[in-house]
Amino acid sequence: METFDVLVLGSGAAGFAAAVTAKEQGASVAVLSRGAGASAVSSGAFDFGRPAAQGSPTDFASRTQHNTWKSTYSRLLADPGNPPSPVDAQRVFMGIERALGLPLKMSWEKALLLPVSNGHWKQVHVAQAAQAGIDLEAIQGKKVAFVYHASWRLTARPLCRQWEQTAEMNFGKKVEIEAVDLSALSPMPDAPLPVVAVRLQRDTEFRTRFFQMVAEIGKGVDAVLLPPIFLDPKFLESLQKEVQKPVSECLGTVEAVPGKRLQDSIFSALDRAQIPLFRADHIRAEITDDLVSGVDYWNQGDSGPRKLRAGKYVLASGKFFGGGVDLQYEKLSEPLFGLPLYWSRQESFAERRAELPWSDRGFFESQTWSQLGVWVDERWQPVGPDNRAVLNNVFACGSVIGGLDFARERVGLGYMIYSGGQCGLVAAKT
Ligand SMILES: Cc1cc2nc3c(=O)[nH]c(=O)nc-3n(C[C@H](O)[C@H](O)[C@H](O)COP(=O)(O)OP(=O)(O)OC[C@H]3O[C@@H](n4cnc5c(N)ncnc54)[C@H](O)[C@@H]3O)c2cc1C
Repeated sequence: METFDVLVLGSGAAGFAAAVTAKEQGASVAVLSRGAGASAVSSGAFDFGRPAAQGSPTDFASRTQHNTWKSTYSRLLADPGNPPSPVDAQRVFMGIERALGLPLKMSWEKALLLPVSNGHWKQVHVAQAAQAGIDLEAIQGKKVAFVYHASWRLTARPLCRQWEQTAEMNFGKKVEIEAVDLSALSPMPDAPLPVVAVRLQRDTEFRTRFFQMVAEIGKGVDAVLLPPIFLDPKFLESLQKEVQKPVSECLGTVEAVPGKRLQDSIFSALDRAQIPLFRADHIRAEITDDLVSGVDYWNQGDSGPRKLRAGKYVLASGKFFGGGVDLQYEKLSEPLFGLPLYWSRQESFAERRAELPWSDRGFFESQTWSQLGVWVDERWQPVGPDNRAVLNNVFACGSVIGGLDFARERVGLGYMIYSGGQCGLVAAKT
């Protein structure tokens, strides 16, 4: 049986940030996970909470004012009355950059308008745009090809028109972006983008042919845009050398190559930080009074469970997608520790689906199901109706926390990394 100071449950963005931060504090740390969650399918940009451009406090901020609990989310909202703390933002970005090796530009002042696939505009910070590989400033006034394939399910032509408008709106310069369909040029497999991405990664001959095709397209333009297609970003650099023109990836994919790449980066960053990662199909916690005393885990075909023990446990198990919140036969639960679930602190905890005003309004409306989760105090410990920690050595971070409204408030990976970092800090120091 192995014993650690801190055991993180979940290997998504939040679990990763908690683990590396606790390790930085000198704690012995391990991660135990059931596999990939929402982080592995996310679409690229790090959402930090929606900027309240009109200066009005968001619902989220006003909700937290009614709580005695001082929200850490509110520090991230780019509200003029409540700006994100530069120190926190910087720490988060530097952490991502250092640990994952993702290039990020740091700027909270400058926002870009980006087109999204439903035809609307999305305002993002430059740092997010850079993470998605977008550098429109560098291609202004130029002729650009956006390379796609009919079977990649991209609305390529409308996207190109939107990119042209983005460049004009943001930089006042004209860019001509032409959608070039690979299926019209040469025999390419009719396969979804992730399948092509995996083949590009593994099949040298296929990659060479693909590079030649893109280089041929590159002859007639000043720069080439691609949807995120390389699981390993080093192939983007090789393609750039072959094309001898700027080649950039852009948002505009419905598929999840960026998520896969993020999850791969998380696994290799854990490895670099020498944090052991245990994977298991089944995980069961052992609880004695108000303490977790150990965790059993096993995989299909194992002769029996193995045990891990820790002084502190960080729950970073995600929401419905990751497995941190479960719905079975109308019963809602946090399956690992049986913690109470809330969608708002004012409401009594929810145990059955019917108790929630389960919203079916538009996707970008507030969704109570997405706000469901455990409720934490200022020490990131899940609390019960009496506002006291339910388990004295359990902390929680990421999307398993209740009250987050990803759709309307755009609380995404940025917040998961931030909350994981804060939670890892507290867990290691307590
Ligand atoms: C399709 C999609 C697209 C998205 N796009 C974006 C985007 O572009 N930008 C953005 O900012 N956000 C995006 N999001 C939201 C973002 O992906 C999530 O908020 C974020 O990934 C949640 O991170 P997490 O670490 O809390 O949970 P997850 O990434 O879900 O990780 C949970 C982890 O816990 C593990 N786990 C579950 N149960 C247990 C258990 N009992 N024991 C141990 N481990 C367990 C899971 O296997 C997994 O490793 C998107 C989400 C989806 C679904």
